[in-house]
Amino acid sequence: MRRVIATPSRTKELLHQYQLSAKKNYGQNFLVEPGIVDKIARSAIVSDHCVVFEIGPGIGALTQFLCEYAQHVVAFEIDERLPKVLEESLSDYDNFSLIMNDFLEVDIKAYTDKVREAGYDVAVAANLPYYITTPILFRLFESNADIAAITVMMQKEVADRFCAKPNTKDYNALSVITQYRCDVSYIMKVPRNVFSPKPNVDSAVLQFRFKESDPNIEDDELFALIKACFKQRRKTILNNLSEYLIDKEKARKILNSAGIDLQTRSEQLDLPAFIHLYEVMRK
Ligand code: SAM
Repeated sequence: MRRVIATPSRTKELLHQYQLSAKKNYGQNFLVEPGIVDKIARSAIVSDHCVVFEIGPGIGALTQFLCEYAQHVVAFEIDERLPKVLEESLSDYDNFSLIMNDFLEVDIKAYTDKVREAGYDVAVAANLPYYITTPILFRLFESNADIAAITVMMQKEVADRFCAKPNTKDYNALSVITQYRCDVSYIMKVPRNVFSPKPNVDSAVLQFRFKESDPNIEDDELFALIKACFKQRRKTILNNLSEYLIDKEKARKILNSAGIDLQTRSEQLDLPAFIHLYEVMRK
Protein backbone atom coordinates (compact mmCIF):
# COMPACT_ATOMS: atom_id res chain seq x y z
CA MET A 1 0.00 0.00 0.00
CA ARG A 2 1.67 3.21 -1.10
CA ARG A 3 -0.22 5.96 0.72
CA VAL A 4 -2.67 5.18 3.46
CA ILE A 5 -5.84 7.28 3.18
CA ALA A 6 -7.05 6.66 6.75
CA THR A 7 -4.72 9.11 8.49
CA PRO A 8 -5.47 12.63 9.75
CA SER A 9 -2.90 14.19 7.42
CA ARG A 10 -3.95 12.42 4.19
CA THR A 11 -7.64 13.04 4.92
CA LYS A 12 -6.96 16.72 5.50
CA GLU A 13 -4.86 16.89 2.36
CA LEU A 14 -7.50 15.26 0.12
CA LEU A 15 -10.34 17.38 1.53
CA HIS A 16 -8.26 20.52 1.09
CA GLN A 17 -7.19 19.60 -2.44
CA TYR A 18 -10.81 19.14 -3.56
CA GLN A 19 -12.10 21.99 -1.36
CA LEU A 20 -14.48 19.69 0.48
CA SER A 21 -15.75 19.47 4.01
CA ALA A 22 -17.62 16.57 5.58
CA LYS A 23 -21.38 16.74 4.98
CA LYS A 24 -23.33 16.24 8.19
CA ASN A 25 -26.58 15.39 6.41
CA TYR A 26 -24.85 12.42 4.74
CA GLY A 27 -23.49 11.21 8.08
CA GLN A 28 -19.89 11.80 7.00
CA ASN A 29 -17.32 10.94 9.65
CA PHE A 30 -14.15 9.73 7.97
CA LEU A 31 -11.94 7.10 9.59
CA VAL A 32 -8.42 8.35 10.31
CA GLU A 33 -6.86 5.42 12.21
CA PRO A 34 -5.35 2.76 9.91
CA GLY A 35 -5.08 0.06 12.60
CA ILE A 36 -8.85 0.11 13.16
CA VAL A 37 -9.59 0.23 9.45
CA ASP A 38 -7.33 -2.74 8.83
CA LYS A 39 -9.15 -4.75 11.50
CA ILE A 40 -12.59 -3.93 10.07
CA ALA A 41 -11.45 -4.89 6.56
CA ARG A 42 -9.89 -8.17 7.70
CA SER A 43 -13.03 -9.12 9.65
CA ALA A 44 -15.23 -8.31 6.67
CA ILE A 45 -13.42 -10.57 4.20
CA VAL A 46 -14.91 -13.96 4.89
CA SER A 47 -13.19 -16.03 2.20
CA ASP A 48 -10.37 -15.82 -0.31
CA HIS A 49 -12.81 -15.45 -3.23
CA CYS A 50 -14.82 -12.61 -1.86
CA VAL A 51 -16.41 -9.59 -3.52
CA VAL A 52 -17.20 -6.81 -1.07
CA PHE A 53 -20.09 -4.38 -1.38
CA GLU A 54 -19.18 -1.26 0.55
CA ILE A 55 -21.84 1.27 1.56
CA GLY A 56 -20.52 4.84 1.55
CA PRO A 57 -16.79 4.76 0.64
CA GLY A 58 -16.34 8.47 1.47
CA ILE A 59 -12.80 9.36 0.37
CA GLY A 60 -11.76 5.69 0.43
CA ALA A 61 -10.38 5.08 3.95
CA LEU A 62 -11.92 1.62 4.40
CA THR A 63 -12.21 0.94 0.67
CA GLN A 64 -8.43 0.97 0.29
CA PHE A 65 -7.94 -1.83 2.84
CA LEU A 66 -10.86 -3.79 1.37
CA CYS A 67 -9.23 -3.52 -2.07
CA GLU A 68 -6.04 -4.95 -0.58
CA TYR A 69 -7.79 -8.07 0.73
CA ALA A 70 -10.81 -8.72 -1.54
CA GLN A 71 -11.05 -9.89 -5.14
CA HIS A 72 -13.15 -6.88 -5.97
CA VAL A 73 -14.87 -4.01 -4.15
CA VAL A 74 -18.10 -2.47 -5.39
CA ALA A 75 -18.90 0.72 -3.49
CA PHE A 76 -22.23 2.56 -3.39
CA GLU A 77 -22.00 6.29 -2.68
CA ILE A 78 -24.60 9.05 -2.64
CA ASP A 79 -22.38 12.16 -2.52
CA GLU A 80 -21.74 13.43 -6.06
CA ARG A 81 -18.63 15.33 -4.90
CA LEU A 82 -16.70 12.14 -4.14
CA PRO A 83 -16.03 10.26 -7.44
CA LYS A 84 -13.23 12.62 -8.39
CA VAL A 85 -11.57 12.20 -5.00
CA LEU A 86 -11.84 8.40 -5.14
CA GLU A 87 -10.44 8.38 -8.65
CA GLU A 88 -7.24 9.83 -7.23
CA SER A 89 -7.13 8.25 -3.76
CA LEU A 90 -7.74 4.72 -5.11
CA SER A 91 -5.84 5.09 -8.38
CA ASP A 92 -3.52 2.20 -7.43
CA TYR A 93 -6.39 -0.29 -7.44
CA ASP A 94 -7.95 -1.90 -10.50
CA ASN A 95 -10.32 -4.02 -8.42
CA PHE A 96 -12.61 -1.14 -7.43
CA SER A 97 -15.94 -0.05 -8.98
CA LEU A 98 -18.06 2.86 -7.86
CA ILE A 99 -21.82 3.02 -8.20
CA MET A 100 -23.33 6.43 -7.55
CA ASN A 101 -26.68 5.73 -5.95
CA ASP A 102 -28.58 5.98 -2.70
CA PHE A 103 -27.98 2.55 -1.20
CA LEU A 104 -31.61 2.44 -0.06
CA GLU A 105 -32.60 2.46 -3.75
CA VAL A 106 -30.23 -0.29 -4.85
CA ASP A 107 -31.49 -3.75 -5.84
CA ILE A 108 -28.94 -5.55 -3.68
CA LYS A 109 -30.28 -9.01 -4.53
CA ALA A 110 -29.70 -8.43 -8.24
CA TYR A 111 -26.09 -7.34 -7.60
CA THR A 112 -25.52 -10.26 -5.25
CA ASP A 113 -26.97 -12.82 -7.68
CA LYS A 114 -24.58 -11.67 -10.41
CA VAL A 115 -21.55 -12.07 -8.16
CA ARG A 116 -22.72 -15.45 -6.86
CA GLU A 117 -23.28 -16.70 -10.43
CA ALA A 118 -19.67 -15.77 -11.18
CA GLY A 119 -18.63 -18.04 -8.28
CA TYR A 120 -17.65 -15.45 -5.66
CA ASP A 121 -18.87 -14.94 -2.11
CA VAL A 122 -20.49 -11.62 -1.27
CA ALA A 123 -19.64 -9.70 1.89
CA VAL A 124 -20.97 -6.30 2.89
CA ALA A 125 -18.79 -3.80 4.77
CA ALA A 126 -19.35 -0.23 5.88
CA ASN A 127 -18.71 2.54 8.27
CA LEU A 128 -22.42 3.30 8.13
CA PRO A 129 -23.91 6.76 7.90
CA TYR A 130 -25.51 7.03 11.35
CA TYR A 131 -28.75 8.61 10.21
CA ILE A 132 -29.84 5.50 8.26
CA THR A 133 -28.17 2.59 10.09
CA THR A 134 -31.36 0.67 10.85
CA PRO A 135 -33.06 1.22 7.44
CA ILE A 136 -29.91 0.02 5.66
CA LEU A 137 -29.59 -3.07 7.83
CA PHE A 138 -33.25 -3.98 7.51
CA ARG A 139 -33.04 -3.51 3.77
CA LEU A 140 -30.18 -6.02 3.75
CA PHE A 141 -31.96 -8.40 6.13
CA GLU A 142 -35.10 -8.32 3.98
CA SER A 143 -33.33 -8.52 0.62
CA ASN A 144 -33.15 -12.32 0.49
CA ALA A 145 -29.71 -11.85 -1.02
CA ASP A 146 -27.12 -14.59 -0.54
CA ILE A 147 -24.68 -12.51 1.51
CA ALA A 148 -22.07 -14.38 3.55
CA ALA A 149 -21.52 -11.68 6.18
CA ILE A 150 -22.36 -8.04 6.89
CA THR A 151 -19.63 -6.26 8.87
CA VAL A 152 -20.55 -2.73 9.79
CA MET A 153 -19.71 0.09 12.14
CA MET A 154 -22.50 1.99 13.82
CA GLN A 155 -23.22 4.10 16.88
CA LYS A 156 -22.41 2.04 19.97
CA GLU A 157 -25.89 2.49 21.52
CA VAL A 158 -27.48 1.05 18.38
CA ALA A 159 -25.00 -1.83 18.27
CA ASP A 160 -25.81 -2.64 21.90
CA ARG A 161 -29.49 -3.00 20.98
CA PHE A 162 -28.80 -5.31 18.05
CA CYS A 163 -26.93 -7.78 20.24
CA ALA A 164 -28.74 -7.25 23.56
CA LYS A 165 -29.70 -10.25 25.69
CA PRO A 166 -32.91 -10.67 27.75
CA ASN A 167 -33.22 -8.81 31.07
CA THR A 168 -31.07 -5.89 29.93
CA LYS A 169 -32.16 -2.31 29.26
CA ASP A 170 -31.15 -2.52 25.59
CA TYR A 171 -33.20 -5.64 24.80
CA ASN A 172 -36.19 -4.84 22.58
CA ALA A 173 -38.11 -6.01 19.50
CA LEU A 174 -35.19 -5.00 17.24
CA SER A 175 -32.84 -7.29 19.22
CA VAL A 176 -35.17 -10.30 19.02
CA ILE A 177 -36.01 -9.87 15.33
CA THR A 178 -32.35 -9.35 14.37
CA GLN A 179 -31.20 -12.34 16.39
CA TYR A 180 -33.91 -14.47 14.76
CA ARG A 181 -32.59 -13.57 11.31
CA CYS A 182 -28.86 -13.47 12.06
CA ASP A 183 -26.05 -14.61 14.29
CA VAL A 184 -24.66 -11.33 15.56
CA SER A 185 -21.06 -10.95 16.75
CA TYR A 186 -19.51 -7.96 18.43
CA ILE A 187 -16.20 -7.33 16.66
CA MET A 188 -14.97 -4.29 18.59
CA LYS A 189 -15.74 -1.00 20.24
CA VAL A 190 -14.35 2.03 18.41
CA PRO A 191 -13.66 5.30 20.25
CA ARG A 192 -14.94 8.56 18.78
CA ASN A 193 -11.46 10.05 18.36
CA VAL A 194 -10.58 7.89 15.32
CA PHE A 195 -12.98 9.87 13.10
CA SER A 196 -12.74 13.23 11.39
CA PRO A 197 -14.85 15.14 12.18
CA LYS A 198 -15.15 13.61 15.66
CA PRO A 199 -18.75 12.52 16.41
CA ASN A 200 -20.40 12.95 19.83
CA VAL A 201 -20.69 9.22 20.44
CA ASP A 202 -18.55 6.09 20.39
CA SER A 203 -19.06 3.38 17.79
CA ALA A 204 -18.91 -0.39 17.54
CA VAL A 205 -18.41 -2.89 14.74
CA LEU A 206 -20.83 -5.79 14.47
CA GLN A 207 -20.93 -8.75 12.12
CA PHE A 208 -24.23 -10.30 11.02
CA ARG A 209 -24.44 -13.74 9.39
CA PHE A 210 -27.80 -14.99 8.17
CA LYS A 211 -29.30 -18.06 9.82
CA GLU A 212 -31.24 -20.73 7.92
CA SER A 213 -34.87 -19.63 7.87
CA ASP A 214 -37.49 -21.92 9.38
CA PRO A 215 -40.04 -22.94 6.69
CA ASN A 216 -42.72 -23.39 9.38
CA ILE A 217 -42.56 -19.77 10.45
CA GLU A 218 -44.24 -16.87 8.66
CA ASP A 219 -41.66 -14.21 9.44
CA ASP A 220 -44.05 -11.28 9.15
CA GLU A 221 -46.45 -12.84 11.65
CA LEU A 222 -43.66 -13.62 14.10
CA PHE A 223 -42.29 -10.06 13.83
CA ALA A 224 -45.74 -8.52 14.33
CA LEU A 225 -46.16 -10.60 17.49
CA ILE A 226 -42.73 -9.63 18.84
CA LYS A 227 -43.36 -5.93 18.15
CA ALA A 228 -46.77 -6.13 19.84
CA CYS A 229 -45.29 -7.82 22.92
CA PHE A 230 -42.78 -4.96 23.32
CA LYS A 231 -45.29 -2.22 22.47
CA GLN A 232 -45.49 -0.93 26.03
CA ARG A 233 -42.34 -2.00 27.78
CA ARG A 234 -43.59 -1.40 31.31
CA LYS A 235 -46.71 -3.50 30.82
CA THR A 236 -46.90 -7.25 31.36
CA ILE A 237 -46.94 -9.55 28.38
CA LEU A 238 -50.58 -10.32 29.23
CA ASN A 239 -51.52 -6.66 28.76
CA ASN A 240 -49.59 -6.23 25.54
CA LEU A 241 -50.87 -9.48 24.05
CA SER A 242 -54.46 -8.70 25.11
CA GLU A 243 -54.23 -5.41 23.25
CA TYR A 244 -52.78 -7.13 20.18
CA LEU A 245 -55.48 -9.82 20.09
CA ILE A 246 -58.20 -7.45 21.33
CA ASP A 247 -59.20 -10.32 23.65
CA LYS A 248 -57.84 -10.66 27.20
CA GLU A 249 -59.27 -14.14 27.79
CA LYS A 250 -57.70 -15.48 24.61
CA ALA A 251 -54.36 -13.89 25.54
CA ARG A 252 -54.53 -15.50 29.01
CA LYS A 253 -55.23 -18.93 27.51
CA ILE A 254 -52.42 -18.68 24.98
CA LEU A 255 -49.89 -17.61 27.61
CA ASN A 256 -51.00 -20.42 29.92
CA SER A 257 -50.63 -22.97 27.09
CA ALA A 258 -47.19 -21.58 26.28
CA GLY A 259 -46.17 -21.92 29.93
CA ILE A 260 -45.52 -18.19 30.29
CA ASP A 261 -46.35 -16.56 33.62
CA LEU A 262 -48.98 -13.84 33.11
CA GLN A 263 -46.91 -11.30 35.04
CA THR A 264 -43.88 -11.74 32.76
CA ARG A 265 -42.56 -8.72 30.88
CA SER A 266 -41.40 -9.22 27.30
CA GLU A 267 -37.84 -8.19 28.14
CA GLN A 268 -37.58 -11.41 30.20
CA LEU A 269 -38.31 -13.70 27.23
CA ASP A 270 -35.58 -15.05 24.98
CA LEU A 271 -35.92 -15.84 21.26
CA PRO A 272 -36.96 -19.53 21.73
CA ALA A 273 -39.71 -18.37 24.12
CA PHE A 274 -41.10 -15.98 21.49
CA ILE A 275 -40.97 -18.70 18.84
CA HIS A 276 -42.79 -21.08 21.19
CA LEU A 277 -45.45 -18.43 21.89
CA TYR A 278 -45.87 -17.93 18.14
CA GLU A 279 -46.29 -21.67 17.59
CA VAL A 280 -48.88 -21.95 20.36
CA MET A 281 -50.80 -19.02 18.88
CA ARG A 282 -50.87 -20.57 15.42
CA LYS A 283 -52.44 -23.82 16.66
N1 SAM B 1 -16.24 4.77 4.49
C1 SAM B 1 -15.77 6.11 4.78
C2 SAM B 1 -14.90 6.08 6.02
O1 SAM B 1 -15.01 5.12 6.79
O2 SAM B 1 -14.12 7.01 6.21
C3 SAM B 1 -16.94 7.09 4.98
C4 SAM B 1 -17.95 6.68 6.04
S1 SAM B 1 -19.13 7.95 6.42
C5 SAM B 1 -19.56 7.51 8.08
C6 SAM B 1 -20.62 7.44 5.56
C7 SAM B 1 -20.57 7.46 4.04
O3 SAM B 1 -21.83 7.03 3.53
C8 SAM B 1 -20.31 8.84 3.42
O4 SAM B 1 -19.39 8.71 2.38
C9 SAM B 1 -21.68 9.26 2.89
O5 SAM B 1 -21.62 10.17 1.82
C10 SAM B 1 -22.25 7.91 2.49
N2 SAM B 1 -23.72 7.85 2.44
C11 SAM B 1 -24.61 8.52 3.20
N3 SAM B 1 -25.87 8.20 2.86
C12 SAM B 1 -25.77 7.27 1.87
C13 SAM B 1 -26.73 6.54 1.11
N4 SAM B 1 -28.04 6.71 1.31
N5 SAM B 1 -26.29 5.69 0.15
C14 SAM B 1 -24.95 5.53 -0.07
N6 SAM B 1 -24.00 6.19 0.64
C15 SAM B 1 -24.41 7.04 1.59
